[in-house]
Amino acid sequence: MSVPALELQGLSKRYGEFTALHTVDLAIRPGEIFALLGPNGAGKTTMIGSVCGLVKKSSGSIRVFGKDLDQDPVGPRYDIGLVPQEINFDPFFTVAESLRIQLGFYGRPADEARIDEVLTALNLHAKKDAYTRALSGGMKRRLLIAKALVHKPRLVFLDEPTAGVDVELRRDLWTYVRKLASEGTTIVLTTHYLEEAEELADRVGIINEGRLLMVEDKATLLRRFGERRVIITFEQ
Ligand code: ATP
Repeated sequence: MSVPALELQGLSKRYGEFTALHTVDLAIRPGEIFALLGPNGAGKTTMIGSVCGLVKKSSGSIRVFGKDLDQDPVGPRYDIGLVPQEINFDPFFTVAESLRIQLGFYGRPADEARIDEVLTALNLHAKKDAYTRALSGGMKRRLLIAKALVHKPRLVFLDEPTAGVDVELRRDLWTYVRKLASEGTTIVLTTHYLEEAEELADRVGIINEGRLLMVEDKATLLRRFGERRVIITFEQ
């Protein structure tokens, strides 16, 4: 088997007495779309944050394309892009300036051709010189995605990318995620919706109360649970 894009072994996170992640083991194959499905508070953001350096793990190991983050906490993260739930750009910059700054974070020059490419792909090019504060909610979400992708990461995390977005953006986003995966990018997305996992993912992991309960390929998951029953269970 090729080296996993992401490998977690015994990953745990405790906040004081509370355990948000319980010894999670998971290997994600290069080029796959993996959906992490779970209700509010399940530990999805904590897991992503541990890999992206936003959360300090309590124990366990994390490897990105075979490189252990304990050995090299910085280098492997150049391969990662994160689309967070929260807006993370400055309202006083333009869209293009935000992307130039983002490239700077990754030690890259302000590559205008790459900025144009990513803005066009996300239907945001017309707003290239607009201030980010003047964007609509949907456009802000497109910019969050552009920021995560502008440095061409090989492993992309999307944390509830379609929560609260309209149908058009959801459709655009799904199309774009599939395109990225077809080009070899590994995608990990979190969602509350079985429908979204079913639409996009090659494999689905179900997480609840910090425990990864199962990882299945999509067809097996649907056979096991039947249509929509997972969502009903979570929302009770
Ligand atoms: P959602 O779908 O609502 O975003 P999630 O699956 O991403 O939820 P997390 O945000 O990872 O869940 O939270 C997992 C658990 O850890 C929750 O019970 C949360 O309250 C707790 N938690 C997260 N961050 C902290 C923190 N800084 N201090 C204490 N507890 C925290």
